[in-house]
Amino acid sequence: MPTEPHDDRAGLVVGRPTTLAPGVQRLLAPNPSPMTGPGTNSYVIGGPASVIVDPGPEDATHLETLAALAGPDVQAICLTHRHVDHAAGAMRLAAMTGAPVRAWPKPVAAEHDIELTDCQPLADGERLVCGDVRLSVHHSPGHAADHVVFLVDDTGLLVAGDTLMQAATVVILPPDGHMGAYLATLDGLADLAPATIAPAHGGLIATPIDEITRVRAHRLMREAQIHDCLSHTPKTPEALVARLYPELESALVPVAARQVLAHLIYLAEQGRAQEHRVGWCAPGGMP
Ligand SMILES: [Zn+2]
Repeated sequence: MPTEPHDDRAGLVVGRPTTLAPGVQRLLAPNPSPMTGPGTNSYVIGGPASVIVDPGPEDATHLETLAALAGPDVQAICLTHRHVDHAAGAMRLAAMTGAPVRAWPKPVAAEHDIELTDCQPLADGERLVCGDVRLSVHHSPGHAADHVVFLVDDTGLLVAGDTLMQAATVVILPPDGHMGAYLATLDGLADLAPATIAPAHGGLIATPIDEITRVRAHRLMREAQIHDCLSHTPKTPEALVARLYPELESALVPVAARQVLAHLIYLAEQGRAQEHRVGWCAPGGMP
């Protein structure tokens, strides 16, 4: 039975698949952490011919359950991106099912990426047919340069990977992550007009446009705060974190500094900040 989107978090149980829409099933992987929330959601789409999106970690029980759920005719194992929590199980699942691994082309693996030994490229706008279910592929960089999302026809369900998460902020780690690309991707997701967002972490997002608007406004608010802190005296991302988030636990400072750096790089690209050897200034700061 389809799960009501607003009650969906209770449906996130490791090893227990949930049918989200006709021909779309979700299986939570056993990899909860501060960065992955309850864990990675793997999706099985279609049937009897099927595709698997994001096999998740290389956990034997999870991959066996996923393969059984997908059935004997798996046409592809598609990745929203190569981050380890999404892709570590891909090559093993490919060996188990005989299906190819498919992802956006990426010549050089970035930080947190899995090196895929064999991968077929996905293309922007490509259409996948799996049994009665059809979906389209959309390049959506920002969180990672190789990120794609999958829009299921008819139901308008968007398998959104790490472009949006339920009750968590998506991490943008430069240089593979890019804030300007992420904001453009949010616009692109809104243009797809999804009915529901199925993220890789957390339950369904039932009001996609409201959520995209909220996330976009939040990022622009942070950008404005960082911009307002810039002066003619250079500041490091860490100094800006100390100023903007004085209460932050020390363990979280390095990731926060990378997020601030993503904003600074994008501000510099817009001519609203300048990088100097010792830190970042307002334009025209430091000789
Ligand atoms: Zn990721």
